[in-house]
Amino acid sequence: PRLRLDVVSIFPDYLEPLRLSLPGRAAERGIVSLAVHDLRDWTHDVHRAVDDSPYGGGPGMVMKPEIWGPCLDDVCPDDAILVVPTPAGVPFTQAIAEELSAATHLVFACGRYEGIDQRVVDDAARRVRVLELSIGDYVLIGGEVATMVMVEAIVRLVDGVLGNAESHRQDSFSDGLLEAPAYTRPQTWRGLSVPDVLRGGDHAAILAWRREQSLARTRDRRPDLLAGEPDTDHGSRG
Ligand code: SAM
Repeated sequence: PRLRLDVVSIFPDYLEPLRLSLPGRAAERGIVSLAVHDLRDWTHDVHRAVDDSPYGGGPGMVMKPEIWGPCLDDVCPDDAILVVPTPAGVPFTQAIAEELSAATHLVFACGRYEGIDQRVVDDAARRVRVLELSIGDYVLIGGEVATMVMVEAIVRLVDGVLGNAESHRQDSFSDGLLEAPAYTRPQTWRGLSVPDVLRGGDHAAILAWRREQSLARTRDRRPDLLAGEPDTDHGSRG
């Protein structure tokens, strides 16, 4: 496979949907391989405990380094990239998805409870590239859903996964802007019409309209994406 994915979780079943959607089909076609590992397989005690109370006090539990360490030793070779989903991470973006789609081996370590003992990350970083990534400014219960989000964003960019490579080059964020709205038949539906310009066949006019819509949407919904962009530059991008 072009890209190998390993995911470690205490709820391996949670990752099953990955086999259904785009990654699933990519796996069937041999472009991407996916292995899901149960962290508890690396426990030795009868309770198969993976967590303990936090040093320094506070609520919740922290995942134990003696379980995660040996697990990552086995699952994450030196030439892989280790992704650790965490709300305290760097924001996961389309640019990072693009970069990771060119990797050959990604390992995702799904935390639960209050997260994983930081030394697991620090130790792994001594031999592999580690990315602590957040999928947004909210807190999930575990890293599984965050992993699915990232895997889906990454896998669709892997060469050969999408039928039409052009389609992802035009997606929102690829040019730093939100994508323009899309329409299909019928021409009029519930009294709402498709914008005339899209039916006119004037390609330059269509491009200009889409550009305008992209900018208007971005200005309205995500002004942060435009911050720092000189105004005069807007017409020359993409
Ligand atoms: N105590 C942690 C904090 O405040 O940073 C929150 C831990 S959260 C309840 C449990 C796990 O969910 C995390 O270890 C991480 O794997 C995952 N998680 C939660 N929110 C996330 C986000 N926004 N992005 C990526 N992973 C997230």
